[in-house]
Amino acid sequence: MAKKVVVIGAGFAGLSAASNLAAAGFDVTILEKNTVPGGRARQYTAGGFVFDMGPSWYWMPDVFEEYFARFGKKASDYYELIRLDPSYVVHFGPGDRLDIPANMSDLESMFESVEPGSVPKLREFLREAEYKYRVGMREFVHKPSHSILEFMDWRIVSSLFRLQMFTSISKHIRRLFRSEKLIQLLEFPVLFLGATPQKTPALYSLMNYADMALGTWYPMGGMYKIVEGMVSLATELGVRLELGQEVRHIAAADGMARVVVTHDGREYPADIVVGAADYHHIDTRLLDAGQRNYSARYWESRTMAPSCLLYYLGVKKRLQNIRHHNLFFDEDFSRHARDIYESPKWPEKPLFYVCAPSQTDPTVAPEGCENLFVLIPVAPGLEDSPAIREHYYDLVMQRLETLTGQSVRDAVVYRRDFAHADFVSEYHAFKGNAYGLANTLMQTAFLKPALKSKRVRNLYYTGQLTVPGPGVPPSLISGQVVAQEIAQHWK
Ligand SMILES: Cc1cc2nc3c(=O)[nH]c(=O)nc-3n(C[C@H](O)[C@H](O)[C@H](O)COP(=O)(O)OP(=O)(O)OC[C@H]3O[C@@H](n4cnc5c(N)ncnc54)[C@H](O)[C@@H]3O)c2cc1C
Repeated sequence: MAKKVVVIGAGFAGLSAASNLAAAGFDVTILEKNTVPGGRARQYTAGGFVFDMGPSWYWMPDVFEEYFARFGKKASDYYELIRLDPSYVVHFGPGDRLDIPANMSDLESMFESVEPGSVPKLREFLREAEYKYRVGMREFVHKPSHSILEFMDWRIVSSLFRLQMFTSISKHIRRLFRSEKLIQLLEFPVLFLGATPQKTPALYSLMNYADMALGTWYPMGGMYKIVEGMVSLATELGVRLELGQEVRHIAAADGMARVVVTHDGREYPADIVVGAADYHHIDTRLLDAGQRNYSARYWESRTMAPSCLLYYLGVKKRLQNIRHHNLFFDEDFSRHARDIYESPKWPEKPLFYVCAPSQTDPTVAPEGCENLFVLIPVAPGLEDSPAIREHYYDLVMQRLETLTGQSVRDAVVYRRDFAHADFVSEYHAFKGNAYGLANTLMQTAFLKPALKSKRVRNLYYTGQLTVPGPGVPPSLISGQVVAQEIAQHWK
């Protein structure tokens, strides 16, 4: 008889773990509290607009291809992927914007026009970033990170200095570039990692390689197409997905999880349990005291990645001067980063991001309309109220109108807000985090919450609060890593 695995949560990590375990011969059931799978990447439709609720940047296409290839499939079996060009646009002020071209020689021309003489530096920067990306993907991200010993390999130790773990990305970028615009452009990908660029290791310039060399992609129909593809693959592999089943308790005895109990009292016997919901929730709410991996003090001392304030907007006209991905960097970048990370508070002058997928994809908005997703990254754990949401709506809409030179508010026909309180109620997110646990040096690899329980032998964790970290590609990998661990120990 195949061993029964119960996976809690149908986000990317849960779906990935489930498919990998089913392919390894386990009998897998996923229990998901929401009525739609995908977790933070769910999608919904309102007034003819189709909104992706979370991720919008498809980066690192190699990771998705590798994921589907494990099952003899390709991403194109499930969705049509296109490369965006420009990859994105950065607005620095009214009429002052940079379009980031997908093509490398156009990108170099753009750098040269902003900072003459910067092309050789860009090449050097991307060469180093490529090295980090390749070593990181080959040597680091697939490790279960039980202990430091996994990293005590000469190849890894000797690469540490070249990986620039001990210098900041801010210093690294500023050593090469002088233009504040280029600096902000290169620092932006780490804004979501959980620390200021001054405190983020230069290792993470690997994200600039992912951005500038590997490109920004989009699955037609929306990011949710990835979820649909993963669900249909999981189903093909025999995984059972039970939606609307909120897990309330993992009943364990003698150091083994035995039964998973849901909100309506249903019991799911399990030989192995995979916690793919937010780690903090599983550890502190679903287990009895004495079976938890970490104390309340431990969790309080963790640095969480940011939360965000989101607006899903339906606009009854087409907008000018925007593209698919738009970054509004007309305010002080470091000041906003300090308001997120150093002295957490609602930012006075936030940067923000607008995704307009209807610029690429006619299926996500009615004809002649625009689909907008507005995101302000903010500190986790802040007080969130209707008045605050209203204040920031006015603030960003007014800036959007000024920077793009048109009225928008009067054409908004649909609006939904989403912030801390929703992250808590929809996903049981610790402090209302959006992106999980921050990727700081002290929360890297074996210093992250462990993927295996220390007290319940058949309980494992996966997802953006454990290894390798936040983001869609890392969550896919996290599911693979945990499945591999389970297969090794329990098959
Ligand atoms: C607004 C936003 C924008 C983002 N943008 C990007 C981006 O552009 N690119 C990118 O790569 N990444 C992005 N991310 C990050 C990325 O979405 C996440 O890292 C990833 O989706 C996390 O997947 P996960 O499986 O770990 O967690 P989740 O997606 O949260 O999945 C966990 C699941 O567990 C379920 N659950 C919780 N408690 C229970 C329970 N008791 N019982 C049953 N089920 C339960 C939840 O409902 C959820 O479905 C973004 C995230 C957000 C929020």
